[in-house]
Amino acid sequence: MTLAICIHCGEQKFGAFVPCRLCGFAPRTVTEKAKSIILSDHHFPKKELLSYQLKVKEFGEIPVTSDGRLPFDSVFLATVARPIFDQAYFHHEQVNSETENIRCKRCGGVFRPEYECPFCLACTSETQSPFAKCDRCRILLEPGARFCPTCGTPTSRDEKVNPSDVGSYLALMTRRVSRSEPILGRHESIRAFRAKLAAEDIGGNDLEVEMVGLFAGEVQLARFFRYGAGLTACVLEVVDLYRHSFVIVDDDSSFANAKANLCLQRLDEYRDEMASNPDAWALPLGTRIARNCLEEDSCSASAVFEMSILFGFFLKVFEEPLRRRIFGA
Ligand SMILES: [Zn+2]
Ligand SMILES: [Zn+2]
Ligand SMILES: [Zn+2]
Repeated sequence: MTLAICIHCGEQKFGAFVPCRLCGFAPRTVTEKAKSIILSDHHFPKKELLSYQLKVKEFGEIPVTSDGRLPFDSVFLATVARPIFDQAYFHHEQVNSETENIRCKRCGGVFRPEYECPFCLACTSETQSPFAKCDRCRILLEPGARFCPTCGTPTSRDEKVNPSDVGSYLALMTRRVSRSEPILGRHESIRAFRAKLAAEDIGGNDLEVEMVGLFAGEVQLARFFRYGAGLTACVLEVVDLYRHSFVIVDDDSSFANAKANLCLQRLDEYRDEMASNPDAWALPLGTRIARNCLEEDSCSASAVFEMSILFGFFLKVFEEPLRRRIFGA
């Protein structure tokens, strides 16, 4: 039985979705459901869970945050709510379809679902199939590859090393790292720029900094891939989680889509910048980052330099955890 905490009043209950016997609250929206799943012993050891319980009892419902902190950071909520979003999409499609066909949530292709799954067969396989790994060369290959093309060793597979799970890991890490003190506190140009921003514009700058982080994560991940489509699939999973996190924060799906498109655009820009200067990308990339993160069109040399250091810092932070997540200790 799942020990859960009523997100509304803090009473203990068994089952995240059952109505609270004290206040009668039962989660209905995606966010309420995700919060209720998180405040259960599936996600936290009992001791930690009880500390959140005290918090709810004393201060009321814990709000959604975007700072990477537990329990209710919006990207963390989005990873937990993914099946709920998928289910809602499936039912929406089914109700609005005049045939038995629906549009795939990922590629938009029309298909006939066999289960309550909103993804076509190709997309399901693309996001869920574990990559083939060569543990010796530390590279990732197409799911079907049986031998490493470099050293000839038979490949291995780990169920949790697929685009969907690696994407969740990368999303959570991007959020946590980009909100950390070493990023926002120590880089003088970012600190100075943010000090001038109005409170309502900080969120936009947060997202710009996060996209620099995500790109660094992508660059580190790319070093393992001998299979470009796999890398792309991981990054698309991250952006989709972010899209959901925007819905959780603003409850406005067209706004969320616009922001997710901005994320994709930024990744394209950074990728292009790096590809067009393969041997000396640091400063051109720094210039591009300064334009987005500091809104400086004619950037000072020190701001550009600092932005390339920022990117280097992200690269370093992502390197070891990603390797460990994929290839183990
Ligand atoms: Zn309650
Ligand atoms: Zn599809
Ligand atoms: Zn090998």
